[in-house]
Amino acid sequence: MKKQSQSPPFLPEEIAQMSAECLCGERIFPALFDRHEEPFEPIVPYGQDGSKGAWVQQATEVNCQCGRSVQFPLNPVTPAGSVEFFGDEADRELGNYFFQGYSLVGGTSGQIVDLAKGLAEVKANWVSGVKPESWTIHTKDLIDGRQRRQHPIYKQISEDRVFPFLQACANVLRDHDEFAWNHYVFSICKHSSDKRERQRELKAVKIANHQALLSMAIYRATAQGLRPRFNFEAIREIKAFPHIEGWSQDSYLGSRHYLAHALLSHGTFVPAPIFVNPRSHPCLELADIHAFFAARTVFKRFRGSVPEIGLPQFGRFVYHALVSPDRAIRAGDDDIDSSLIPTE
Ligand SMILES: [Zn+2]
Repeated sequence: MKKQSQSPPFLPEEIAQMSAECLCGERIFPALFDRHEEPFEPIVPYGQDGSKGAWVQQATEVNCQCGRSVQFPLNPVTPAGSVEFFGDEADRELGNYFFQGYSLVGGTSGQIVDLAKGLAEVKANWVSGVKPESWTIHTKDLIDGRQRRQHPIYKQISEDRVFPFLQACANVLRDHDEFAWNHYVFSICKHSSDKRERQRELKAVKIANHQALLSMAIYRATAQGLRPRFNFEAIREIKAFPHIEGWSQDSYLGSRHYLAHALLSHGTFVPAPIFVNPRSHPCLELADIHAFFAARTVFKRFRGSVPEIGLPQFGRFVYHALVSPDRAIRAGDDDIDSSLIPTE
């Protein structure tokens, strides 16, 4: 085992605070962030495909100074289904602060179908004579007057109908939020005045947010016996599929070598997130709209005004603010708590 700084950030309190008493009276803490040579995950017997079962590690041992070993149960949960997650991000400069946030729209297969149908209906109602699947919503371009007028489809939505249209899209999420798995994580950081230093800071913030979001969704889904599958928008158009961006693949696969991750995922194998073409699924369009308005809400409040579409219009999301790379606090159920947003 060797120590490494790379580890899954943001752990639920019950994992972070885990300890047990040895027979000698010593309090023992599991080595959550020691890197193990072998990843923690089910082992499939040689020559089988895993359909007949796999060996799942049930506990991990920690040696006490007295020579005894103390067991920590891993409480594995066997997944009985899966939950699909679709993520997108947005950022803004807020004076000396930098804001970055990730939206994650999630649901089981039936819920995903309902969201896709709901969005298709809205698109068909607002732009007639065009198949809703043949065009996609990119909120930034739709709101930008010049971009909208040059777009073959967007130009059919007149300026005064842009926000009502986007609100109708937001309400698709709200109308299906009863069993939703929607999450949002953001960070607001004071940034450095040095441009190069700032680039480094932004990258670190982005990675921390991304990992915190994955951690939360993995913990919640696997606790309920669901295997999470993550689909994120790639930053650039993808040429080869499936394509996984270097830092995400590395940070994710690296995390599987830690006990913290085994506890976080309830012993369930979670596939690494995949990066897909922008707006290649209706739920990515919904994530794009939500991420845009979450960032706009924060920006407008920073400037002392109100957004055209408030976050409650999107229904329930689990909002979290990352206050340090390993600590997230609850930031609201249907809106971002204003006390967490600096003002100009
Ligand atoms: Zn002991």
